[in-house]
Amino acid sequence: MRIIAEQGDITRAGTDAIVNAANSLLLGGGGVDGAIHHAAGPKLLEACRRLRNTTHRDGLEVGDAVATPGFDLPARWVIHTVGPNRNRGQTDPTLLASCFTRSLDVAAELGARSIAFPAVSAGAFGWPADDVSRIAVDAVTGWHGPPIEETRFVLFDQRVLTAFEAAL
Ligand code: ADP
Repeated sequence: MRIIAEQGDITRAGTDAIVNAANSLLLGGGGVDGAIHHAAGPKLLEACRRLRNTTHRDGLEVGDAVATPGFDLPARWVIHTVGPNRNRGQTDPTLLASCFTRSLDVAAELGARSIAFPAVSAGAFGWPADDVSRIAVDAVTGWHGPPIEETRFVLFDQRVLTAFEAAL
């Protein structure tokens, strides 16, 4: 698998799937979540509401992932994951690693060949970018399986990009 880190806005990524750093409620929020909902259009929120009314009545668990269509995004799918919130004492690195591996599992089930990740938990959820980048790179490099050929880390901030480049 090719693994790339780059600076950019994940809503513009041309990968088959993009990952959303969502929260358990799955009903939108700030940061990358808000940007993805804004760019995907209102149908994304409707799709998330449908998940909450069917398969995910209690929301999405920390470390788990679930897909919706991408609607108005260039990406065909959005894979929503929930990172651990360090500001609420969620400091278990295996939960953060699980966000990356579960998202890859879901992408592979969909048949996606490429996927883009943001720095899950490195914003409002308070994890240091150095920790997120190491955990993310270890999780992605340790994950094996077709059909995913390319993983892109699309980082908003130069500082976070530097951390991912060091980890890679
Ligand atoms: P979390 O709540 O999981 O910490 P945030 O959205 O607050 O999620 O932040 C995660 C990371 O996503 C941060 O590094 C933030 O700078 C970055 N980010 C925000 N908007 C975008 C975007 N449009 N594309 C890529 N990354 C983004």
